Amino acid sequence: MKPAPFEYHAPTDLGEAVRLLAALGEHGRLLAGGQSLMPMLNLRLARPEAIVDLNRITALAYHRLDDETLVIGALCRQREIERDQEVLARCAAIADAIPLIGHIGIRNRGTVVGSLAHADPSAEWPVLAVLLDATLEVEGVAGRRSIAAQDFFKGLFATDLRPGELVVEARFPLPPAGAGSAFIEVARRHGDFALGAAAAVVELAADGSVTAARLALGGFDSVPVRATPDPAAAAADVHPVDDVHAPAGYRRKLAETLARRALHLAEQRARKAGR
Ligand SMILES: Cc1cc2nc3c(=O)[nH]c(=O)nc-3n(C[C@H](O)[C@H](O)[C@H](O)COP(=O)(O)OP(=O)(O)OC[C@H]3O[C@@H](n4cnc5c(N)ncnc54)[C@H](O)[C@@H]3O)c2cc1C
Repeated sequence: MKPAPFEYHAPTDLGEAVRLLAALGEHGRLLAGGQSLMPMLNLRLARPEAIVDLNRITALAYHRLDDETLVIGALCRQREIERDQEVLARCAAIADAIPLIGHIGIRNRGTVVGSLAHADPSAEWPVLAVLLDATLEVEGVAGRRSIAAQDFFKGLFATDLRPGELVVEARFPLPPAGAGSAFIEVARRHGDFALGAAAAVVELAADGSVTAARLALGGFDSVPVRATPDPAAAAADVHPVDDVHAPAGYRRKLAETLARRALHLAEQRARKAGR
């Protein structure tokens, strides 16, 4: 199938994009990498009256390390992060997660921010955002605001964005030096969306005792969940449902298993970093 007819706008700066979105309201839809939106348009699951294409706003195509924070602009492709060896060395959970996202062609076009805005609870970037306490910088005609990742995801494909707002950048505070992190998932085939995913960060004291642990789970609820960093307790923090891919009981068991493995791997990596 082909998309239903729509108006096409290709602004070249952020201000123009914000004004267009405000004028279009609920009838407008942003296009970033198109890796989620184009299939939805082609299947007519989405029928916006107008598309606002971000791809000519080259000022949004950036990422950088601001001290301990990875800052990712709205037009930064997932593959750019995958190729940044410094970022991968600073956060093993990011390094683990990116190769699990679709395939290289998808990551070449798909943006990090587009993945966050799409808010698929099985997607990898939303789980990383919740794990790392990311914030999303959002702009609309009323001005800018920051939204914590845990407040951004409101439900299945639903976010805290108001009509006319767009995400300008996402800011991911990286784990402190010496911490270990990990991202593990189960998918039916490589490149498929995960049946479930777990990501963890573990910090150790000089005597080797664990001083802090964080855990995030994806695919088990309508949003990525920041869970108790204990496998059995974490499985009780999520509310899986039966679907065509797996029964709820399997998913709950999977949450516990993946939580255990992610916490264990993150701790092992922290011990290795401390040697
Ligand atoms: C075959 C296939 C397999 C895939 N497998 C995976 C996978 O395993 N894991 C995974 O995480 N993803 C997967 N994806 C999705 C991919 O990662 C997408 O690129 C990503 O989800 C959306 O990014 P995008 O830049 O393509 O956004 P688009 O498709 O352009 O947009 C997605 C949505 O976000 C909105 N949006 C985009 N940018 C902004 C912004 N700056 N502000 C506000 N709203 C915005 C759009 O309006 C749209 O509603 C797969 C895609 C395909 C086609």
